[in-house]
Amino acid sequence: MPDMLYCPWCGKKLVSKTIEGREYAACDDAMCGYVFWDNPLPVVAAIIEHEGAVVLARGKGWPDKIFGLVTGFLEKGESPEDAVRREVKEELGLDSTIQGFVGTYPFFQKNQLLLVYHVMAEGHIVLNDELEEVKHVSLDKLKPWPFGTGPAVRDWLEKRKTFV
Ligand SMILES: [Zn+2]
Repeated sequence: MPDMLYCPWCGKKLVSKTIEGREYAACDDAMCGYVFWDNPLPVVAAIIEHEGAVVLARGKGWPDKIFGLVTGFLEKGESPEDAVRREVKEELGLDSTIQGFVGTYPFFQKNQLLLVYHVMAEGHIVLNDELEEVKHVSLDKLKPWPFGTGPAVRDWLEKRKTFV
């Protein structure tokens, strides 16, 4: 059950209901019919090449030494390609061009579906307040991590090897 305890449509209590064999929080009022489906949210992520290296970012409040890709939500009416370039601009101050789509990666712990792009970025990095710090990692030192955006980095590195 999620934190949300009352129906956003009619204000009655939410109860646990089984639909098609899965459990959901749903409105107790049969006439209302609200179900909290809790579908995964799409999130864009960028493997950013800048000055010959890949830029990894550490978000505000993240543990030391934990870095990941720059990620963000889509705005209403925005394509994933526009969203990824906007996030790179907002978070790092860099202009970027999309080089390719790496793939889709479920991030079950966060109930997200990552849409991962490879971008080439130019300019001088200026961090916004979502990020604590960034680091440049050369391709030969880039080690994918086993969660979140890491598997996309792993696949991207694998694919590069076959073309280089
Ligand atoms: Zn309701």
